[in-house]
Amino acid sequence: MLQKLAGHHARKRFGQNFLNDPHWIGRIVDSIDPKPGDCLIEIGPGQAALTREVIAKSGHETAVEIDRDLAAWLRGLFEPGQLDLIEADALKLDWQAVCPGRKLRIFGNLPYNISSPILFALIAVSPRVADQHFMLQREVVDRMVSPPGNRTYGRLSAMLQRYYRMHKLFDVPPGAFTPAPKVTSSVVRMIPLPRDPGAVSDEVYAEVVAASFSMRRKTLRNALGKLLSADEIRAAGVAPEARAETLSVGAFEALARALVEKRRSLAV
Ligand code: SAM
Repeated sequence: MLQKLAGHHARKRFGQNFLNDPHWIGRIVDSIDPKPGDCLIEIGPGQAALTREVIAKSGHETAVEIDRDLAAWLRGLFEPGQLDLIEADALKLDWQAVCPGRKLRIFGNLPYNISSPILFALIAVSPRVADQHFMLQREVVDRMVSPPGNRTYGRLSAMLQRYYRMHKLFDVPPGAFTPAPKVTSSVVRMIPLPRDPGAVSDEVYAEVVAASFSMRRKTLRNALGKLLSADEIRAAGVAPEARAETLSVGAFEALARALVEKRRSLAV
């Protein structure tokens, strides 16, 4: 079996940094803990560093790969029935069509250039997800798990913490990859939280979070000026003088609810 695709040059536009170190590959796959019968979906299998080990443990996975050459090579790499390969852009994938009616276990060493868009796109499918394990830039993982008030707490933290419990598992050094990236990576586990049926829509929550962080280090009164007045912010139980970096998910939820109610009252 070919270990690598001969002559393939890592493509920067696809964020290709391939894992090459059995120690780190083993640690990541142990964290995923693939089991036969799981619906495992890998984003960006690349040269199959994780794919091989996951299939060895589970017998099967589905993978989505954008690089046509790698996709063609991957198709010939496994026994029939071991790998369902979808040649597509993970950002445009119809996740509902994957393992219909079953819980998904999504994982990958994500292309760093599009890691935030992928994380945001997966929010819509999170009610069907059992867990997600991703390798990302350490700086991104630090932002994902950061509590309010922390230097690294920002839009990504407030967006993802509404939907997931997240644990940073361990760092992976640049030398574990070919080519070596400039930065350290980290592995994160994401477990979807139960959805509150009475919660405001994903769109309004995202709108309020984006507006709140649009003027970093400005007060909410300034940042949210177009959406809510100082009195309306106060009535939602949040100080208009506060800065977005200090607000919990619950506070953003309260502001989003205030916005929904304001729009409803203006519509009648
Ligand atoms: N999993 C392999 C590993 O750990 O060595 C490869 C990881 S590499 C960082 C990212 C992989 O994602 C590459 O194979 C790349 O071609 C693929 N990729 C990049 N953008 C993608 C997209 N939009 N949709 C699906 N795959 C993508």
